[in-house]
Amino acid sequence: MERELRAIVGDAGIAAEPGWFLTDISGLPGKADAVVLPATAEEVARVVAWCYEHDVPITPRGGGTGVAGGAVPLDGGVLLALDRLDRVRQFDPLLWRLHVEAGVKTGAVHALARDNGLMFAPDPGAAEQSQIGGNIATNAAGPHAYKYGATATWVTGLEAVVPPGEVVFVGGAIRKDVAGYDLKSLLIGSEGTLGIVTAAWLRLLPAPEVTLPVAAFHRDVSSGCDAILRVVGSGIGATAVEFLDGETLACAGQSFDGPLPEGAGFLVVAEADGSASEAVRLQEELIEALGEGAVAVAAPTTRDEIETLWRWRSGLAFAVLARRGLALSEDIVVPLDRLEEAIDETAEIGRRHDLIGLSFGHAGDGNLHSTFLFSPESDDERARAWRACDELVDLAVRLGGSISGEHGTGWLKRGQLEKQWPPRAVELHEAIKRTFDPKGLLNPGKKLARLPA
Ligand SMILES: Cc1cc2nc3c(=O)[nH]c(=O)nc-3n(C[C@H](O)[C@H](O)[C@H](O)COP(=O)(O)OP(=O)(O)OC[C@H]3O[C@@H](n4cnc5c(N)ncnc54)[C@H](O)[C@@H]3O)c2cc1C
Repeated sequence: MERELRAIVGDAGIAAEPGWFLTDISGLPGKADAVVLPATAEEVARVVAWCYEHDVPITPRGGGTGVAGGAVPLDGGVLLALDRLDRVRQFDPLLWRLHVEAGVKTGAVHALARDNGLMFAPDPGAAEQSQIGGNIATNAAGPHAYKYGATATWVTGLEAVVPPGEVVFVGGAIRKDVAGYDLKSLLIGSEGTLGIVTAAWLRLLPAPEVTLPVAAFHRDVSSGCDAILRVVGSGIGATAVEFLDGETLACAGQSFDGPLPEGAGFLVVAEADGSASEAVRLQEELIEALGEGAVAVAAPTTRDEIETLWRWRSGLAFAVLARRGLALSEDIVVPLDRLEEAIDETAEIGRRHDLIGLSFGHAGDGNLHSTFLFSPESDDERARAWRACDELVDLAVRLGGSISGEHGTGWLKRGQLEKQWPPRAVELHEAIKRTFDPKGLLNPGKKLARLPA
Protein backbone atom coordinates (compact mmCIF):
# COMPACT_ATOMS: atom_id res chain seq x y z
CA MET A 1 0.00 0.00 0.00
CA GLU A 2 2.63 2.50 1.09
CA ARG A 3 4.65 2.07 -2.10
CA GLU A 4 1.64 2.83 -4.30
CA LEU A 5 0.60 5.83 -2.19
CA ARG A 6 4.18 7.11 -2.20
CA ALA A 7 4.00 7.09 -6.00
CA ILE A 8 1.09 9.55 -5.73
CA VAL A 9 2.25 11.88 -2.95
CA GLY A 10 6.04 11.51 -3.09
CA ASP A 11 8.39 10.91 -0.15
CA ALA A 12 7.37 14.17 1.57
CA GLY A 13 3.74 13.01 1.48
CA ILE A 14 4.29 9.99 3.72
CA ALA A 15 4.45 10.87 7.43
CA ALA A 16 7.83 10.24 9.01
CA GLU A 17 6.27 10.12 12.48
CA PRO A 18 2.80 8.65 11.99
CA GLY A 19 2.09 8.36 15.75
CA TRP A 20 1.23 12.05 16.10
CA PHE A 21 -1.62 11.64 13.63
CA LEU A 22 -3.26 8.60 15.18
CA THR A 23 -5.29 10.30 17.88
CA ASP A 24 -6.88 13.68 18.56
CA ILE A 25 -7.61 15.74 21.65
CA SER A 26 -10.20 13.11 22.73
CA GLY A 27 -7.28 10.70 23.35
CA LEU A 28 -9.09 7.88 21.52
CA PRO A 29 -6.41 5.47 20.27
CA GLY A 30 -6.30 4.95 16.49
CA LYS A 31 -4.39 2.87 13.99
CA ALA A 32 -3.76 3.37 10.29
CA ASP A 33 -1.95 1.38 7.60
CA ALA A 34 -0.54 4.59 6.14
CA VAL A 35 -0.48 8.28 7.04
CA VAL A 36 -0.40 10.40 3.90
CA LEU A 37 0.01 14.14 3.53
CA PRO A 38 -0.95 15.20 0.01
CA ALA A 39 0.22 18.64 -1.11
CA THR A 40 -2.55 19.51 -3.59
CA ALA A 41 -6.26 18.89 -4.15
CA GLU A 42 -5.33 16.75 -7.16
CA GLU A 43 -3.16 14.53 -4.95
CA VAL A 44 -6.03 14.24 -2.46
CA ALA A 45 -8.27 13.14 -5.34
CA ARG A 46 -5.76 10.54 -6.51
CA VAL A 47 -5.36 9.14 -2.99
CA VAL A 48 -9.16 8.91 -2.59
CA ALA A 49 -9.43 7.26 -6.02
CA TRP A 50 -6.76 4.72 -5.05
CA CYS A 51 -8.54 3.97 -1.77
CA TYR A 52 -11.88 3.65 -3.53
CA GLU A 53 -10.45 1.24 -6.05
CA HIS A 54 -8.86 -0.88 -3.30
CA ASP A 55 -11.71 -0.66 -0.73
CA VAL A 56 -9.48 1.10 1.80
CA PRO A 57 -11.08 3.38 4.44
CA ILE A 58 -9.96 7.03 4.57
CA THR A 59 -9.94 9.21 7.68
CA PRO A 60 -9.48 12.94 6.96
CA ARG A 61 -7.60 14.90 9.59
CA GLY A 62 -7.08 18.60 10.19
CA GLY A 63 -5.40 19.93 13.33
CA GLY A 64 -6.58 17.05 15.56
CA THR A 65 -8.31 19.38 18.06
CA GLY A 66 -11.72 17.78 17.58
CA VAL A 67 -13.17 16.42 20.80
CA ALA A 68 -15.54 13.80 19.36
CA GLY A 69 -12.88 11.41 18.04
CA GLY A 70 -13.85 12.27 14.44
CA ALA A 71 -10.29 12.44 13.09
CA VAL A 72 -9.14 9.18 14.67
CA PRO A 73 -8.69 6.21 12.28
CA LEU A 74 -10.34 3.37 14.14
CA ASP A 75 -9.67 0.38 12.03
CA GLY A 76 -6.66 0.87 9.78
CA GLY A 77 -6.79 2.31 6.29
CA VAL A 78 -5.38 5.66 5.22
CA LEU A 79 -5.15 8.64 7.52
CA LEU A 80 -5.24 11.61 5.17
CA ALA A 81 -3.80 14.72 6.84
CA LEU A 82 -4.36 18.11 5.21
CA ASP A 83 -1.36 19.87 6.79
CA ARG A 84 0.46 20.45 3.51
CA LEU A 85 -2.48 22.14 1.80
CA ASP A 86 -1.50 25.35 3.55
CA ARG A 87 -1.49 28.02 0.85
CA VAL A 88 -3.40 31.27 0.69
CA ARG A 89 -4.64 31.16 -2.90
CA GLN A 90 -6.08 34.65 -3.09
CA PHE A 91 -6.67 37.53 -0.70
CA ASP A 92 -8.78 40.53 -1.69
CA PRO A 93 -8.87 42.79 1.37
CA LEU A 94 -10.94 45.46 -0.36
CA LEU A 95 -13.56 42.87 -1.22
CA TRP A 96 -13.35 41.32 2.27
CA ARG A 97 -12.67 37.83 0.97
CA LEU A 98 -10.04 35.17 1.19
CA HIS A 99 -9.40 31.91 -0.64
CA VAL A 100 -7.40 29.46 1.46
CA GLU A 101 -6.51 25.81 1.38
CA ALA A 102 -7.93 23.51 4.02
CA GLY A 103 -4.71 23.04 6.01
CA VAL A 104 -4.23 26.73 6.82
CA LYS A 105 -4.43 27.17 10.60
CA THR A 106 -7.42 29.07 11.95
CA GLY A 107 -5.05 31.35 13.87
CA ALA A 108 -3.20 32.21 10.64
CA VAL A 109 -6.48 33.27 9.01
CA HIS A 110 -7.25 35.45 12.03
CA ALA A 111 -3.78 37.02 11.88
CA LEU A 112 -3.93 37.70 8.13
CA ALA A 113 -7.34 39.34 8.47
CA ARG A 114 -6.30 41.34 11.55
CA ASP A 115 -3.09 42.61 9.91
CA ASN A 116 -5.24 44.07 7.16
CA GLY A 117 -7.85 45.71 9.39
CA LEU A 118 -10.30 42.85 8.87
CA MET A 119 -11.77 40.06 10.95
CA PHE A 120 -12.57 36.39 10.36
CA ALA A 121 -15.43 36.09 12.80
CA PRO A 122 -15.50 32.39 13.87
CA ASP A 123 -13.39 31.98 17.02
CA PRO A 124 -13.23 28.34 18.15
CA GLY A 125 -10.98 27.81 21.16
CA ALA A 126 -8.05 25.86 19.73
CA ALA A 127 -7.35 28.27 16.85
CA GLU A 128 -3.54 27.95 16.99
CA GLN A 129 -3.77 24.24 16.12
CA SER A 130 -7.07 23.74 14.31
CA GLN A 131 -7.29 24.12 10.55
CA ILE A 132 -9.85 25.92 8.43
CA GLY A 133 -10.77 22.59 6.82
CA GLY A 134 -11.40 21.09 10.27
CA ASN A 135 -13.47 24.14 11.29
CA ILE A 136 -15.56 23.73 8.15
CA ALA A 137 -15.90 19.97 8.63
CA THR A 138 -17.24 20.55 12.17
CA ASN A 139 -18.95 23.90 11.47
CA ALA A 140 -17.04 25.18 14.48
CA ALA A 141 -18.32 28.08 16.53
CA GLY A 142 -17.07 29.94 19.61
CA PRO A 143 -18.10 32.72 21.99
CA HIS A 144 -18.64 35.28 19.21
CA ALA A 145 -21.01 33.02 17.27
CA TYR A 146 -23.75 34.71 19.31
CA LYS A 147 -23.50 37.78 17.07
CA TYR A 148 -21.56 36.47 14.09
CA GLY A 149 -22.74 32.87 13.64
CA ALA A 150 -20.72 29.66 13.22
CA THR A 151 -18.15 28.93 10.49
CA ALA A 152 -20.84 28.15 7.87
CA THR A 153 -21.95 31.79 7.90
CA TRP A 154 -18.54 32.83 6.57
CA VAL A 155 -17.96 30.20 3.86
CA THR A 156 -19.16 31.22 0.40
CA GLY A 157 -17.49 28.48 -1.60
CA LEU A 158 -15.87 25.08 -1.19
CA GLU A 159 -13.49 22.92 -3.13
CA ALA A 160 -13.78 19.31 -2.00
CA VAL A 161 -12.76 15.85 -3.07
CA VAL A 162 -15.68 13.44 -3.14
CA PRO A 163 -15.75 9.70 -3.86
CA PRO A 164 -14.71 8.02 -6.02
CA GLY A 165 -11.95 10.65 -6.19
CA GLU A 166 -13.09 13.82 -7.95
CA VAL A 167 -12.50 17.47 -7.17
CA VAL A 168 -15.79 19.43 -7.05
CA PHE A 169 -16.47 23.17 -6.56
CA VAL A 170 -19.61 24.53 -4.93
CA GLY A 171 -20.19 28.25 -4.49
CA GLY A 172 -17.18 30.50 -4.89
CA ALA A 173 -16.23 34.16 -4.42
CA ILE A 174 -19.91 35.02 -4.46
CA ARG A 175 -22.18 36.31 -1.73
CA LYS A 176 -25.40 34.61 -2.85
CA ASP A 177 -26.17 31.28 -4.48
CA VAL A 178 -29.48 29.46 -4.61
CA ALA A 179 -28.98 27.65 -7.89
CA GLY A 180 -28.95 24.05 -6.71
CA TYR A 181 -29.52 22.02 -3.58
CA ASP A 182 -27.23 23.45 -0.93
CA LEU A 183 -24.34 20.97 -1.28
CA LYS A 184 -21.99 23.45 0.37
CA SER A 185 -24.03 23.36 3.56
CA LEU A 186 -24.21 19.57 3.41
CA LEU A 187 -20.43 19.35 3.27
CA ILE A 188 -20.03 21.91 6.07
CA GLY A 189 -20.36 20.06 9.38
CA SER A 190 -20.21 16.63 7.70
CA GLU A 191 -17.09 15.70 9.73
CA GLY A 192 -15.23 14.18 6.80
CA THR A 193 -17.95 11.63 6.07
CA LEU A 194 -19.17 13.07 2.73
CA GLY A 195 -16.08 14.66 1.22
CA ILE A 196 -12.66 16.09 1.95
CA VAL A 197 -12.52 19.87 2.00
CA THR A 198 -9.41 21.05 0.15
CA ALA A 199 -10.03 24.81 -0.07
CA ALA A 200 -12.60 27.44 0.83
CA TRP A 201 -13.66 30.95 -0.04
CA LEU A 202 -14.17 32.85 3.21
CA ARG A 203 -16.01 36.09 3.85
CA LEU A 204 -14.31 38.63 6.11
CA LEU A 205 -15.51 41.75 7.90
CA PRO A 206 -13.92 45.07 8.79
CA ALA A 207 -12.51 44.58 12.30
CA PRO A 208 -14.42 46.43 15.02
CA GLU A 209 -12.49 49.40 16.38
CA VAL A 210 -13.03 48.42 20.00
CA THR A 211 -14.30 45.44 22.02
CA LEU A 212 -15.47 45.93 25.61
CA PRO A 213 -16.56 43.07 27.90
CA VAL A 214 -18.71 43.06 31.01
CA ALA A 215 -18.44 40.41 33.74
CA ALA A 216 -21.50 40.19 36.00
CA PHE A 217 -21.38 37.97 39.08
CA HIS A 218 -24.73 36.65 40.23
CA ARG A 219 -25.71 34.78 43.34
CA ASP A 220 -27.21 31.75 41.57
CA VAL A 221 -28.27 30.15 38.29
CA SER A 222 -31.73 31.66 38.38
CA SER A 223 -30.55 35.26 38.80
CA GLY A 224 -27.81 34.76 36.17
CA CYS A 225 -30.19 33.24 33.61
CA ASP A 226 -32.68 36.08 34.15
CA ALA A 227 -29.85 38.49 33.33
CA ILE A 228 -29.00 36.54 30.16
CA LEU A 229 -32.63 36.64 29.01
CA ARG A 230 -32.74 40.39 29.72
CA VAL A 231 -29.74 40.93 27.40
CA VAL A 232 -31.32 38.84 24.65
CA GLY A 233 -34.82 40.26 25.11
CA SER A 234 -33.70 43.88 25.16
CA GLY A 235 -31.98 43.42 21.79
CA ILE A 236 -28.61 44.74 22.95
CA GLY A 237 -26.19 43.91 20.14
CA ALA A 238 -23.77 41.88 22.29
CA THR A 239 -21.13 39.89 20.41
CA ALA A 240 -20.85 37.16 23.05
CA VAL A 241 -22.86 36.07 26.10
CA GLU A 242 -20.99 33.43 28.06
CA PHE A 243 -21.69 31.82 31.42
CA LEU A 244 -19.98 29.85 34.20
CA ASP A 245 -21.94 28.09 36.93
CA GLY A 246 -20.84 27.99 40.58
CA GLU A 247 -18.81 24.75 40.35
CA THR A 248 -16.96 26.09 37.31
CA LEU A 249 -16.20 29.27 39.25
CA ALA A 250 -14.90 27.10 42.07
CA CYS A 251 -12.50 25.38 39.63
CA ALA A 252 -11.35 28.53 37.83
CA GLY A 253 -11.77 31.22 40.48
CA GLN A 254 -8.16 31.11 41.62
CA SER A 255 -6.86 32.07 38.21
CA PHE A 256 -9.36 34.92 37.84
CA ASP A 257 -7.77 38.37 37.66
CA GLY A 258 -8.63 39.47 41.20
CA PRO A 259 -10.66 38.02 44.07
CA LEU A 260 -14.11 36.64 43.32
CA PRO A 261 -16.82 38.77 44.92
CA GLU A 262 -18.49 37.46 48.09
CA GLY A 263 -21.59 35.40 47.31
CA ALA A 264 -20.78 34.89 43.62
CA GLY A 265 -22.31 31.61 42.39
CA PHE A 266 -22.71 32.32 38.68
CA LEU A 267 -20.91 34.52 36.17
CA VAL A 268 -22.09 36.04 32.90
CA VAL A 269 -19.44 37.48 30.57
CA ALA A 270 -20.77 39.52 27.68
CA GLU A 271 -19.03 41.69 25.16
CA ALA A 272 -19.78 44.76 23.06
CA ASP A 273 -17.95 45.77 19.90
CA GLY A 274 -18.06 48.46 17.25
CA SER A 275 -16.68 51.99 16.86
CA ALA A 276 -15.33 53.44 20.12
CA SER A 277 -18.55 55.34 20.89
CA GLU A 278 -20.81 52.46 19.88
CA ALA A 279 -18.90 49.93 22.00
CA VAL A 280 -19.02 52.24 25.04
CA ARG A 281 -22.78 52.72 24.60
CA LEU A 282 -23.35 48.97 24.27
CA GLN A 283 -21.12 48.25 27.26
CA GLU A 284 -23.23 50.63 29.36
CA GLU A 285 -26.41 48.89 28.20
CA LEU A 286 -24.88 45.52 29.09
CA ILE A 287 -23.89 46.77 32.55
CA GLU A 288 -27.48 47.87 33.13
CA ALA A 289 -29.08 44.65 31.85
CA LEU A 290 -26.63 42.29 33.53
CA GLY A 291 -26.24 44.37 36.70
CA GLU A 292 -29.84 43.98 37.89
CA GLY A 293 -29.70 41.58 40.86
CA ALA A 294 -25.92 41.02 40.45
CA VAL A 295 -23.56 40.85 43.44
CA ALA A 296 -20.83 42.65 41.45
CA VAL A 297 -20.14 43.86 37.93
CA ALA A 298 -16.73 44.41 36.36
CA ALA A 299 -16.30 46.32 33.12
CA PRO A 300 -12.66 46.16 31.98
CA THR A 301 -11.57 48.85 29.57
CA THR A 302 -7.80 48.45 29.12
CA ARG A 303 -6.43 46.11 26.48
CA ASP A 304 -4.50 44.17 29.13
CA GLU A 305 -7.54 43.61 31.36
CA ILE A 306 -9.69 42.58 28.41
CA GLU A 307 -7.12 40.12 27.07
CA THR A 308 -6.64 38.69 30.57
CA LEU A 309 -10.40 38.11 30.94
CA TRP A 310 -10.74 36.31 27.58
CA ARG A 311 -7.56 34.29 28.16
CA TRP A 312 -9.04 33.15 31.45
CA ARG A 313 -12.30 32.26 29.66
CA SER A 314 -10.37 30.22 27.02
CA GLY A 315 -8.54 28.31 29.73
CA LEU A 316 -11.71 27.20 31.53
CA ALA A 317 -11.72 23.69 30.08
CA PHE A 318 -8.22 23.09 31.49
CA ALA A 319 -9.02 24.61 34.92
CA VAL A 320 -12.05 22.32 35.15
CA LEU A 321 -9.99 19.30 34.12
CA ALA A 322 -7.41 20.02 36.81
CA ARG A 323 -9.96 19.62 39.64
CA ARG A 324 -10.21 15.80 39.44
CA GLY A 325 -7.71 14.96 36.71
CA LEU A 326 -10.15 14.02 33.94
CA ALA A 327 -13.60 15.01 32.71
CA LEU A 328 -16.18 14.20 30.10
CA SER A 329 -17.45 17.40 28.57
CA GLU A 330 -20.44 17.59 26.26
CA ASP A 331 -21.85 20.36 24.10
CA ILE A 332 -25.61 20.06 24.23
CA VAL A 333 -27.69 22.99 23.04
CA VAL A 334 -31.17 23.92 24.29
CA PRO A 335 -33.72 26.63 23.55
CA LEU A 336 -32.70 29.75 25.47
CA ASP A 337 -35.72 29.66 27.76
CA ARG A 338 -34.68 26.16 28.92
CA LEU A 339 -31.06 27.12 29.72
CA GLU A 340 -31.65 27.45 33.46
CA GLU A 341 -33.24 23.98 33.59
CA ALA A 342 -30.35 22.49 31.60
CA ILE A 343 -27.76 24.01 33.96
CA ASP A 344 -29.64 22.86 37.08
CA GLU A 345 -30.23 19.38 35.69
CA THR A 346 -26.57 18.95 34.73
CA ALA A 347 -25.67 19.48 38.39
CA GLU A 348 -28.49 17.15 39.44
CA ILE A 349 -27.35 14.37 37.04
CA GLY A 350 -23.87 14.72 38.53
CA ARG A 351 -25.25 14.38 42.07
CA ARG A 352 -27.27 11.30 41.07
CA HIS A 353 -24.06 9.65 39.85
CA ASP A 354 -22.04 10.93 42.82
CA LEU A 355 -19.88 13.10 40.55
CA ILE A 356 -19.20 16.81 40.28
CA GLY A 357 -21.41 17.97 37.41
CA LEU A 358 -20.89 21.51 36.18
CA SER A 359 -21.51 23.62 33.14
CA PHE A 360 -20.18 26.65 31.35
CA GLY A 361 -20.44 27.85 27.79
CA HIS A 362 -22.14 29.97 25.23
CA ALA A 363 -25.25 31.14 27.09
CA GLY A 364 -26.50 33.41 24.32
CA ASP A 365 -26.69 30.40 22.00
CA GLY A 366 -28.11 28.07 24.68
CA ASN A 367 -24.98 25.93 24.22
CA LEU A 368 -23.63 24.29 27.38
CA HIS A 369 -20.40 22.47 28.01
CA SER A 370 -21.98 20.20 30.58
CA THR A 371 -19.12 18.38 32.25
CA PHE A 372 -18.64 15.51 34.69
CA LEU A 373 -15.35 15.28 36.56
CA PHE A 374 -13.64 12.04 37.49
CA SER A 375 -10.33 10.72 38.69
CA PRO A 376 -8.06 8.90 36.18
CA GLU A 377 -7.49 6.29 38.91
CA SER A 378 -11.14 5.29 39.17
CA ASP A 379 -12.69 3.11 36.46
CA ASP A 380 -15.91 3.23 38.41
CA GLU A 381 -16.04 7.05 38.35
CA ARG A 382 -15.26 7.00 34.64
CA ALA A 383 -18.12 4.56 33.97
CA ARG A 384 -20.48 6.75 36.01
CA ALA A 385 -19.37 9.82 34.02
CA TRP A 386 -20.28 8.01 30.77
CA ARG A 387 -23.71 7.12 32.18
CA ALA A 388 -24.18 10.74 33.23
CA CYS A 389 -23.38 11.83 29.64
CA ASP A 390 -26.06 9.46 28.33
CA GLU A 391 -28.56 11.20 30.57
CA LEU A 392 -27.43 14.55 29.14
CA VAL A 393 -28.43 13.35 25.68
CA ASP A 394 -31.89 12.52 27.02
CA LEU A 395 -32.02 15.92 28.73
CA ALA A 396 -31.16 17.81 25.53
CA VAL A 397 -33.83 15.92 23.59
CA ARG A 398 -36.46 16.40 26.33
CA LEU A 399 -35.83 20.15 26.43
CA GLY A 400 -36.26 20.44 22.64
CA GLY A 401 -32.53 20.89 22.02
CA SER A 402 -29.77 19.01 20.26
CA ILE A 403 -27.12 16.56 21.44
CA SER A 404 -24.37 18.65 19.82
CA GLY A 405 -24.12 22.39 19.26
CA GLU A 406 -20.41 22.52 18.47
CA HIS A 407 -18.31 19.38 18.55
CA GLY A 408 -20.30 17.15 16.22
CA THR A 409 -21.06 13.47 16.52
CA GLY A 410 -17.72 11.98 15.56
CA TRP A 411 -17.18 8.54 17.07
CA LEU A 412 -18.04 9.35 20.66
CA LYS A 413 -21.66 10.32 20.01
CA ARG A 414 -22.35 7.85 17.21
CA GLY A 415 -25.84 6.41 17.20
CA GLN A 416 -27.34 9.07 19.47
CA LEU A 417 -29.03 11.17 16.79
CA GLU A 418 -31.87 8.71 16.41
CA LYS A 419 -33.02 9.75 19.89
CA GLN A 420 -33.45 13.28 18.56
CA TRP A 421 -34.68 12.83 15.01
CA PRO A 422 -37.78 11.03 13.65
CA PRO A 423 -37.11 7.80 11.72
CA ARG A 424 -37.67 9.39 8.30
CA ALA A 425 -35.08 12.09 9.03
CA VAL A 426 -32.62 9.38 10.10
CA GLU A 427 -33.28 7.53 6.81
CA LEU A 428 -32.59 10.71 4.82
CA HIS A 429 -29.38 11.24 6.80
CA GLU A 430 -28.23 7.74 5.84
CA ALA A 431 -29.36 8.14 2.22
CA ILE A 432 -27.26 11.30 1.87
CA LYS A 433 -24.21 9.41 3.14
CA ARG A 434 -24.80 6.60 0.61
CA THR A 435 -25.22 9.12 -2.23
CA PHE A 436 -21.89 10.81 -1.54
CA ASP A 437 -19.98 7.72 -0.46
CA PRO A 438 -21.61 4.55 -1.81
CA LYS A 439 -18.87 2.27 -0.50
CA GLY A 440 -18.91 3.85 2.96
CA LEU A 441 -15.14 4.36 2.96
CA LEU A 442 -15.02 8.01 4.04
CA ASN A 443 -14.48 8.22 7.79
CA PRO A 444 -16.37 4.99 8.52
CA GLY A 445 -18.15 4.67 11.85
CA LYS A 446 -18.36 8.47 12.33
CA LYS A 447 -21.43 10.71 12.45
CA LEU A 448 -23.73 7.69 12.45
CA ALA A 449 -27.32 8.69 13.19
CA ARG A 450 -27.99 5.16 14.46
CA LEU A 451 -25.82 2.15 15.09
CA PRO A 452 -25.90 -0.64 12.51
CA ALA A 453 -28.44 -3.35 13.43
C1 LIG B 1 -9.17 23.83 23.88
C2 LIG B 1 -10.22 23.57 22.83
C3 LIG B 1 -11.21 24.53 22.64
C4 LIG B 1 -12.18 24.31 21.66
N1 LIG B 1 -13.14 25.28 21.49
C5 LIG B 1 -14.08 25.10 20.54
C6 LIG B 1 -15.08 26.11 20.34
O1 LIG B 1 -15.10 27.15 21.00
N2 LIG B 1 -16.01 25.87 19.39
C7 LIG B 1 -16.00 24.73 18.63
O2 LIG B 1 -16.88 24.58 17.76
N3 LIG B 1 -15.07 23.77 18.81
C8 LIG B 1 -14.12 23.92 19.73
N4 LIG B 1 -13.17 22.96 19.92
C9 LIG B 1 -13.19 21.74 19.09
C10 LIG B 1 -12.27 21.81 17.84
O3 LIG B 1 -11.25 22.72 18.01
C11 LIG B 1 -13.05 22.19 16.61
O4 LIG B 1 -14.01 21.19 16.37
C12 LIG B 1 -12.20 22.37 15.34
O5 LIG B 1 -13.04 22.90 14.32
C13 LIG B 1 -11.55 21.09 14.83
O6 LIG B 1 -10.64 21.44 13.79
P1 LIG B 1 -9.38 20.54 13.48
O7 LIG B 1 -8.69 21.12 12.29
O8 LIG B 1 -8.55 20.33 14.67
O9 LIG B 1 -10.11 19.20 13.02
P2 LIG B 1 -9.81 17.67 13.43
O10 LIG B 1 -9.91 17.49 14.89
O11 LIG B 1 -8.56 17.21 12.77
O12 LIG B 1 -11.03 16.96 12.72
C14 LIG B 1 -12.35 17.17 13.17
C15 LIG B 1 -13.32 16.45 12.21
O13 LIG B 1 -13.27 17.06 10.93
C16 LIG B 1 -12.80 16.15 9.92
N5 LIG B 1 -11.90 16.92 9.06
C17 LIG B 1 -10.80 17.65 9.43
N6 LIG B 1 -10.30 18.29 8.37
C18 LIG B 1 -11.09 17.98 7.31
C19 LIG B 1 -11.10 18.35 5.94
N7 LIG B 1 -10.20 19.19 5.42
N8 LIG B 1 -12.08 17.84 5.14
C20 LIG B 1 -13.02 17.00 5.64
N9 LIG B 1 -13.05 16.61 6.93
C21 LIG B 1 -12.11 17.11 7.74
C22 LIG B 1 -12.15 15.01 10.67
O14 LIG B 1 -12.28 13.81 9.94
C23 LIG B 1 -12.97 15.00 11.96
O15 LIG B 1 -14.17 14.29 11.76
C24 LIG B 1 -12.18 23.13 20.88
C25 LIG B 1 -11.18 22.18 21.08
C26 LIG B 1 -10.21 22.39 22.04
C27 LIG B 1 -9.16 21.37 22.22
